[in-house]
Amino acid sequence: MDEQFIGRGGYEIHSSVLRSYEYKGERIPLLDRGKGIRNPASFSSTLSIMSGWKANRYSDSESDDGWVTYHYRAGDSSDNVKLVRAWENRDPIVYFRAVREGYYVPFYPIIIAENDSVARVVRFPLDPALSFLGDPMEYTEQQRKYAETIVRTRLHQPIFRARVLHAYGGACTVCDLRHSELLDAAHIIGDAQEHGVPHVSNGLAMCKIHHAAYDRSLMGITPDYEVRIDRDLLDEVDGPMLRHGLQDMHGRRIRLPMSRKAYPDRDRLAERFEQFAKWH
Ligand SMILES: [Zn+2]
Repeated sequence: MDEQFIGRGGYEIHSSVLRSYEYKGERIPLLDRGKGIRNPASFSSTLSIMSGWKANRYSDSESDDGWVTYHYRAGDSSDNVKLVRAWENRDPIVYFRAVREGYYVPFYPIIIAENDSVARVVRFPLDPALSFLGDPMEYTEQQRKYAETIVRTRLHQPIFRARVLHAYGGACTVCDLRHSELLDAAHIIGDAQEHGVPHVSNGLAMCKIHHAAYDRSLMGITPDYEVRIDRDLLDEVDGPMLRHGLQDMHGRRIRLPMSRKAYPDRDRLAERFEQFAKWH
C-alpha cells in the first residue's frame, strides 16, 4: 500500500480507496459496503472489520483503556463463523476505525483477544503502534509477534497493577505519594520485551510524574535501590515540582515492598539503570 493511502494530514484513508484495493493484480476490496466486516470467499477467516460512523459517534464501543468490543452480525451469518475462526487461529485481522464519515485509520495486525459467544462479541486491545503503514497482505513475523505481545500484556495489565500497588502498600516507591488515582505500576523491563514479564519483581509502584520521569530516563533507580536524577535536570531552576518532586529525590532510597519476594529484581534494575547511565 503506498501514497494513495495517505490522506489529508495523516494516514486516514477514504473508503473508496479501500474498496478498490488490489493485491498483485487481483482486486480484493478491504471493506464490504454496509456490512462492517469483510470476508473474501477465498479466505477461511476474516480479513477486516470496521467501526461504523453514525450520528457523529462510533457505533461499536471503544473503552477508555483502549479495548474495542466488536459485535457479531445478526443471525447465524457465515461472517460470524469466519470471525470466530480468526480468534481461534489467532489470524491477524485489519481494524478500520472510522474517524469521520467515509474516512478510516487502519490498525494492523490485530489479534482478537477474547470471544464471548453468549454476548456475541469479540474484544481486542488497540495500540497506536498498530496503526499500520504497510500492506495488510504482507506482515512480518515480528509484527505478528508484537501484536500478540500487546494482547498478552493488556490482558495482564490490571492484575499486574493491583499486585504491584499492593506490594508497595499503595504508595509511590520514590516519593511515598499515596493517592491510588495518581499511581501506576511501572515496568522495570518494558512489557514489549521478552523478559518484561508482568511479575511483581519486574514492577515498581510509582506516581504519574515519577513513572513518566523513569520511562523517559530523567530518573533512574540503581540496583542498590537508590534514586538518581538526570544531571541536567539537577542544574535547572524552576518551580516546586522540579525542586521538591524531582531534585530532592536524588540519592533517596526507594521504599521497598513489605515482602522480600516482591522486591524489585536487581538484575533487571541493573539492566534498566545501564540505559539511564548511558545518557548521563
Ligand atoms: Zn512519586
